[in-house]
Amino acid sequence: MIATISRISSWIDSDIESYRETVRRFVTAEIVPNQDRWSEQQHVDRRLWNKAGELGLLAADIPEEFGGSGGTFAHMAVLLEELAYAGDWAFGVNVHVIASHYILNHGTPEQKRKYLPQLASGSMVAAIAMTEPGTGSDLQAVRTRAARQGDEYVINGAKTFISNGSMADLIIVVTKTDIATGSKGVSLMLLETKDAVGFRVGRTLNKLGQKGADTCELFFDNVQVPVTNVLGGREGQGFYQLMTELPYERTAVAVGSVATIETAVKLTVEYTRERKVFGRPLLEMQNTRFKLAEAQTQAVIARVFIDHCIQRMIDGTMDVVTASQAKLWTTETQGKVVDECLQLFGGYGYMMEYPIARMYADARVQRIYGGTSEIMKEIIARSL
Ligand SMILES: Cc1cc2nc3c(=O)[nH]c(=O)nc-3n(C[C@H](O)[C@H](O)[C@H](O)COP(=O)(O)OP(=O)(O)OC[C@H]3O[C@@H](n4cnc5c(N)ncnc54)[C@H](O)[C@@H]3O)c2cc1C
Repeated sequence: MIATISRISSWIDSDIESYRETVRRFVTAEIVPNQDRWSEQQHVDRRLWNKAGELGLLAADIPEEFGGSGGTFAHMAVLLEELAYAGDWAFGVNVHVIASHYILNHGTPEQKRKYLPQLASGSMVAAIAMTEPGTGSDLQAVRTRAARQGDEYVINGAKTFISNGSMADLIIVVTKTDIATGSKGVSLMLLETKDAVGFRVGRTLNKLGQKGADTCELFFDNVQVPVTNVLGGREGQGFYQLMTELPYERTAVAVGSVATIETAVKLTVEYTRERKVFGRPLLEMQNTRFKLAEAQTQAVIARVFIDHCIQRMIDGTMDVVTASQAKLWTTETQGKVVDECLQLFGGYGYMMEYPIARMYADARVQRIYGGTSEIMKEIIARSL
């Protein structure tokens, strides 16, 4: 299933349209046929990353000097939309691209030269490890420790729920270099996992939805990282770096939510047009028409808002509060719309062979990861 949604968005020009065709061909050929198998094995195939890299999909909005395509957030939005239109949540490209932006915006010249081309080609897969068994929302409370010993940091601790966790070659690990201070003691370490002694990937976690996504526990037992691998070359910058990059992540989550809302409405209109109840198409019942009228209105409002947000990302004017509003409203609306749509499928909506059932299960975590809805409300409320 890949939904085709007709709409007008001012950020889409002919270049972006032709990029969308490239992405859609990739999704059709490389992702859709493998979705069930990836759900079973709980991760995508490693070669998918190389194929995406060859097409320039992994670094579309990274400058050419670092191996990217020199595009904008519009390219990223197209990729996220096309994955959502195909109902795919297995390919962890979102996190990978976000990791590249951490390095692009905060890395030393050496870190950018070393890692960005490898992330662009897919020869390295990236993860970002913030969450720990004891803390998720409160990032200042992380306990994973990076203790300086000569020319190295020695990392000890554990992380959980880490996307791309089992496949990652490069992990941005949120650590404490100074346990006596809160946010000022946070530093981001660039850990190359190959041959990292003391680093261990734990269980791949069995989730409610997004079954094909590789979500893991990670353990660090005296893992050595050269001092040159603290992001930006200086300790204590981690919290600031996280806060400046989270709007990218939150807007990216919102882009996927809006594309899913559009897809759910389209699939449900098609289904209810065909399904007969009491001798008439289900779509002719007033309840169905009213429910879908409401859902379509929410889809349009979501589209207008997300187009505004995408444009601000392209222009470099997105702010923390608007990105939080985008994540809060679109993910909550995604949950409500997909639930209402599933109801109109009756019992078939509960069967995993129907895309709406997978969309329901996949949607739930959108309100949790990347900062929960409650944390989004806290951020928004603070700005009032
Ligand atoms: C599928 C999946 C993929 C993920 N991928 C990653 C990843 O790649 N990297 C990564 O680092 N993490 C990842 N996460 C973790 C995710 O970001 C966290 O689960 C999330 O931030 C919430 O943290 P927590 O689970 O510890 O919940 P907690 O922080 O314990 O929150 C529990 C509840 O308390 C609420 N709460 C917390 N603080 C407040 C407050 N101040 N006011 C009101 N309510 C509050 C929360 O909103 C929530 O409802 C992923 C999670 C999942 C499920």
